[in-house]
Amino acid sequence: MIIVPEAVIADLITPEASFDAVEKVFASMAAKSASNFPVIREAIGHADALYGFKSGFDRAALNLGLKSGGYWPGNAEKGLTNHQSTVFLFDADTGRCRAVVGGNLLTALRTAAAAAVSVAHLARPDARVLGIVGAGHQAAFQLRAVAAQRDFARVVAWNRSPAKLDRLAAVAAELGLPFESVSLDDLGAQADVIVTITSSFDAILRADQVRPGTHLACMGTDTRGKQEIEAALLARARVFTDEVAQSISIGEAQHAVAGGSLRADEITELGAVINGRHGGRTSAEEITLFDGTGVGLQDLAVAAAVVDLAVERGVAIDVDF
Ligand code: NAD
Repeated sequence: MIIVPEAVIADLITPEASFDAVEKVFASMAAKSASNFPVIREAIGHADALYGFKSGFDRAALNLGLKSGGYWPGNAEKGLTNHQSTVFLFDADTGRCRAVVGGNLLTALRTAAAAAVSVAHLARPDARVLGIVGAGHQAAFQLRAVAAQRDFARVVAWNRSPAKLDRLAAVAAELGLPFESVSLDDLGAQADVIVTITSSFDAILRADQVRPGTHLACMGTDTRGKQEIEAALLARARVFTDEVAQSISIGEAQHAVAGGSLRADEITELGAVINGRHGGRTSAEEITLFDGTGVGLQDLAVAAAVVDLAVERGVAIDVDF
């Protein structure tokens, strides 16, 4: 069995490799050669923790496994990340445990990669202004991954507390992109691509703040009750997702579907666009919206890529198990 510790992962996998892994598994999902199994998420009644796992099987890549972990709110005082996860991969032919891989950095990379894949396939080719809503842990990863998908000239960003935009501004500077903290009205009026990555439970961005031709990657809503976008915007947009079942239950589309302004059969899996079965954006004026809910198969895909890289570079720990 191979172990790849969290500490070595940053030197192994790049945003580009994460993009390739996620794009392939979205395509497999849409081709029905990969499926996610029901998600488990429970309050364990200890340390205020939320624990669960996401699992699945990609028959094309033979990736079988699960990501286990959750949220421990007291971790920060112990010098640990509140979100903790570990990926377990199993041999699809024998069921033996093949690898255990640190899942914290991978979660951020695979989430950012999903947004980037949506931008690559759905944003207008001439998109020049990138808007980011949110400035938490995930936001910097989003900026890095998405900025690589178009010839962006600048970044505009909004956060509930603007002072926390510093870290995003530093990433933009590293990427050579001018950065401006703006109001939501200005963000919607200027951005060609908008990434939302907050933990809000109320709509932040209104339909009338977004102009025709925009692509939105809505990445923060991954739980029942969370919401970043006014439901009216989903009714107006062409909506894509990683997995329809998650989109309508825990994703951004849950509110529009519950309110009757969007039907589940109007939502397209991004993998269908990658596979060429769906044409994606139909005009320069259309608003496209990717509801990125985060599926277990994404975790397995990036973890398998890391295992291959760790073996290749001689940093995998091989143990008898
Ligand atoms: P974080 O706690 O580091 O940051 C939270 C961000 O949300 C901050 O910018 C904060 O200002 C903003 N925010 C919180 N409540 C808000 C409100 N009511 N109105 C406006 N802004 C608000 O979190 P993070 O790790 O960056 O994660 C952000 C979100 O992304 C979380 O909801 C998380 O569950 C989700 N997430 C989704 C996926 C996926 O695959 N879709 C993966 C990882 C994380």
